[in-house]
Amino acid sequence: MMMAAPLRRLGGAVLDALLPPRCLGCGEAVLRQATLCVPCFIETPLITPPCCASCGLPFGHAAEGEPGEDGGRHCPRCLLAPPLYGQARAAFLYGPGSKRLLLPFKHGDRSELARPLARQMARAGRELLDRAELILPVPLHRWRLLRRRYNQAALLAAELSRLSGRPWAPDLLRRPRATPPLGEKGPAARQAVVAGAFALGPGAAARIAGRRLLLVDDVLTTGATANACAWLLLQAGAAGVDVLAAARVPEGR
Ligand SMILES: [Zn+2]
Ligand SMILES: [Zn+2]
Repeated sequence: MMMAAPLRRLGGAVLDALLPPRCLGCGEAVLRQATLCVPCFIETPLITPPCCASCGLPFGHAAEGEPGEDGGRHCPRCLLAPPLYGQARAAFLYGPGSKRLLLPFKHGDRSELARPLARQMARAGRELLDRAELILPVPLHRWRLLRRRYNQAALLAAELSRLSGRPWAPDLLRRPRATPPLGEKGPAARQAVVAGAFALGPGAAARIAGRRLLLVDDVLTTGATANACAWLLLQAGAAGVDVLAAARVPEGR
């Protein structure tokens, strides 16, 4: 049910009175619900333009990178080996501040972080969301899903769907093969580990053929997972695959 804005504001005020607002990162008292305190905010840099037109790597200035065929400027890695996905964007740089949000979100039980994280993702990926016809979370293998109880990417996808009105599908993309944690592995090793880890669920091909898809994950590291999923989805006839993550590591894709 949609509440009228004044009623929603009133709801927020009542909630604030009942639960003193706490910083999402460290739990310190703050002025408004679902915000960060100043030290946490400083340690959680938002990614804003300019950035690589393909992988979203933040640039220090607008003349960084080289122009590509699409007119946008691209980082050297994307020019050398263009990713299979169209564009990737992320809300935050992965670092001390975003880890304070993302690690409890991933391994703990702080599923309520999905909403504020998705709000920032929608800001960073507005154009990607606008053209998306279907939102797909990067799946977890069922063992990992059992241990964690929820797939953090699916929670983000559901929130992004709610914010944008775009449909999402939780199980079109599947992960039948368990892969070891990618941790400190380099780009080539990651590529080898994730190749073949994903599969399409029954009836998936009919739902993705000819459509522009948005793949959602919590952290974008080398892009190996995004590329493996994009390869599968494009093979199945998707018109394009973009990627939206909560955070990305500062280097490489
Ligand atoms: Zn804080
Ligand atoms: Zn790039």
